[in-house]
Amino acid sequence: MKSRNQCPGCLSDSLSVVYEESYGGPGIRSYMARHYEGNASSAADACSYELVRCNSCTLAFQKQVPDDRLLDEIYNGWVPGTELDRTHRNYSLDDYRYLAEQVQYVIQYFGVPPGELSVLDFGFGWAHWSRMAMAYGCDVYGVELSEERIRHGRSVGIKVVELADLPAKKFHFIHTEQVFEHLTEPRAVLERLAQALAADGLIKISVPNAGPSLKKLARHGDFGALSPAHQMPIAPLEHVNAFNHDSLVAFGKTLGLKPVRPNFFKLYNSASGMLAAKNLARVLARPFYRHIFPRSTFVYFAHA
Ligand SMILES: [Zn+2]
Repeated sequence: MKSRNQCPGCLSDSLSVVYEESYGGPGIRSYMARHYEGNASSAADACSYELVRCNSCTLAFQKQVPDDRLLDEIYNGWVPGTELDRTHRNYSLDDYRYLAEQVQYVIQYFGVPPGELSVLDFGFGWAHWSRMAMAYGCDVYGVELSEERIRHGRSVGIKVVELADLPAKKFHFIHTEQVFEHLTEPRAVLERLAQALAADGLIKISVPNAGPSLKKLARHGDFGALSPAHQMPIAPLEHVNAFNHDSLVAFGKTLGLKPVRPNFFKLYNSASGMLAAKNLARVLARPFYRHIFPRSTFVYFAHA
């Protein structure tokens, strides 16, 4: 484990402790046993789950984070199988439809033929978003850490690149979905991505909203008393940055990015499947709850 003594968002060293419990403590121990299905070793037991809040930008984060060796152990040994076939089985028609809506939204935002759009899927995972963007004709690049996922990405046609080698001002759109909550050095990564973003480009950062979890934790003072759904956004060792809307916006601002409120006509125009009653309600409500109320942790950013 290694310790982060400055805010990983704004670099302030003015921090307040939100919660602390040893990795051997009862609440954390039972979470680890359930979440990792008995695969977790005792590698972290001598350390503490220490959640702190930055007094400057309000970002909550875990102070002690896994080093590279432990990260490798967690993601390749502890995490229960995330095989491609299982991931595919879990994707429903509505999931694919929502991906399509998001890709259509981006293409409409720029108002140019899809073939002229250069996009980067940062942390492309099993390439669901990338494949959708390719289906719409975009020129798709991707960055991934896992060798297995890189092989898969190449096999479906993603131009796989390294973060360090990203060309300057290249990409119209950069997609990040459930990535920034995992990064031990999120600032350095966003800085690099902002440099690779075209002057009129758009970057999506979507992370779990830790706001309700942090409120519950403050009220109960016991991680073990939280429901699994409330433990998830502040998951020990994995979701080491716990954003809410305000701290996510502050994070972008510290690197010269401003949030862009999506155009509602374009959001609705790219939403599909509206003729089924259950979809109509979802399609009408989602632009509001995702981009207006409550203030969410899915934000489109542009250069300020
Ligand atoms: Zn900060």
